Amino acid sequence: MINIFALSGILISITSGLMAVLMFVVGNVKLHYLWGAFCVSVFIWGLGAYFIGTTNNAVVADTWWRITHIGIIFIPILFLHFVYEFLGLSKRKNIIIVYLIGLFFLITDVVGNLFIANMRWVFNQFYYDSPPGVLYPFFIIFFFGLIIYSHYILWQAHKKTNDILKKIRIKYFFIGMIISFMGGSLSFLPVFGIDFYPFLNLAVFIYPVIISYAILKHQLFNIKVIVTEVIVFLLGSILVIDLFLANSLYILLFKGLVLFLMIIFGALLIKSVSGEVKRREETEKLVNELKKANEKLKQVDEQKSEFISIASHQLRTPLTAIKGYTSMLIEGTYGEVSDKAKGIVSKIFQSSQRLVYIVNDMLDVSRIEEGRLKYTFEDVKINNLVKDVIGELKVNADFKKLKFNFSADSESLDVVISADYGKIRQAIINIIDNSIKYTEKGFVLVSLEISKNKNSLILNIKDSGIGMTKNQLKTIFEKFKRSKNAIKMHTEGSGLGLYVAKEMIKSNKGVIWATSDGLGKGSQFYIEFPIKKEK
Ligand code: ADP
Repeated sequence: MINIFALSGILISITSGLMAVLMFVVGNVKLHYLWGAFCVSVFIWGLGAYFIGTTNNAVVADTWWRITHIGIIFIPILFLHFVYEFLGLSKRKNIIIVYLIGLFFLITDVVGNLFIANMRWVFNQFYYDSPPGVLYPFFIIFFFGLIIYSHYILWQAHKKTNDILKKIRIKYFFIGMIISFMGGSLSFLPVFGIDFYPFLNLAVFIYPVIISYAILKHQLFNIKVIVTEVIVFLLGSILVIDLFLANSLYILLFKGLVLFLMIIFGALLIKSVSGEVKRREETEKLVNELKKANEKLKQVDEQKSEFISIASHQLRTPLTAIKGYTSMLIEGTYGEVSDKAKGIVSKIFQSSQRLVYIVNDMLDVSRIEEGRLKYTFEDVKINNLVKDVIGELKVNADFKKLKFNFSADSESLDVVISADYGKIRQAIINIIDNSIKYTEKGFVLVSLEISKNKNSLILNIKDSGIGMTKNQLKTIFEKFKRSKNAIKMHTEGSGLGLYVAKEMIKSNKGVIWATSDGLGKGSQFYIEFPIKKEK
């Protein structure tokens, strides 16, 4: 009766021997040949184990111990070489060094007794090299060192790669190999006097088949499909063998039917598993691509903000100069200017002032997005602030001959709110300037009053301009949103004014909203601030 050690040996040598042949015959890249060479070493190990397990002659056993080690010595070396190739790492120097060390062990294995030394009868079944030669412990260190190192770099690659598919492949390979190595490695124990029966070698024999097939068929690993295919194939083979054991026609027919059904269901199973794997791979690929695209978008967005910030800084200085000089021209600082020229110069003034507002908004948008906008709160009398803004914007309204008024409820005159003066001013300018911009004729009326519950101040800006539809009203406070009628009227807007105003008002604990009865029917904007309570 054959013992388990010899049985596992013969199974291992058959499967890995076949796989080695397959790899060299069908293989076409270095990775295939390296795996083939690895299978050859496993084959030699298995063959040796078989003959060790079946002899009771110490001299014959000694010879087979030496032969089996020709395979064992190169298992970790070829495995490392394979892993390097698999991960696309070129480490010529390392590879040469480990092969040289392997060669050294090989020589001491073949001749002398520094490596293989004594034969000891174990488990009442076969001879084991125990205790081994002096070099053997060093070989064990070398063996496990390489195996652990190979798995370590596999693990590192698994962690580093962003390719989800590759991640899964490495993971399967890693787990599978570690199980096989652990199973196989236990057969070293009796060498050192720990008599644990090496039956776990059985864990190894099917693995070369799975991996080889995976490498060939799917360039690498599609373990789920392959395992299914191998199991279906094995079951099928067993049933075919079973056919020959039938001793009557009925039983033969019955077994034939079972085989037939098994082939059909097996094929369906493989199809569904591979379909599922394929779909998952596709999804993973898509997710990967989306991830990359998303990162790129983020980068572009950051670059855009940076560009806007730089560009607006560069624009601000010349604009301030233009504004300053045109204002002095209008005031007559450089001598009398004709009325006709004055009209044109004040147009230049208005345009440059608007550009200053836009540039400020742009700068603020990038600050808001980066969270860099700082607020310093102080007591602000809104009444005075609005008066000041009205003064600044009067030129623009006068130019269009609009009725431009500010009225404040007597109660609201001295009311104080806590706010950042500069930011609130900019927000209010944006709103009032919009009303002037989007009104051809009629009025822009600004009024300030206290809410009914006396808790807040409400600034109302009402115009008789182009108005807005309900749909427009929904989006006007979003970044870069401009309506068609607005663009037609004022090509040079940025669509940032309301966004910036809303952000600033929000940060000052205020709220802003807008209403309109429709296109051509004017608009109303409301800004509400909580009144600062006396302490
Ligand atoms: P811009 O004025 O540069 O286009 P804003 O953010 O200030 O950008 O305004 C966004 C949009 O809101 C404008 O393009 C316009 O469609 C609409 N809007 C703002 N204020 C008014 C108003 N007073 N009357 C009509 N539409 C307005």
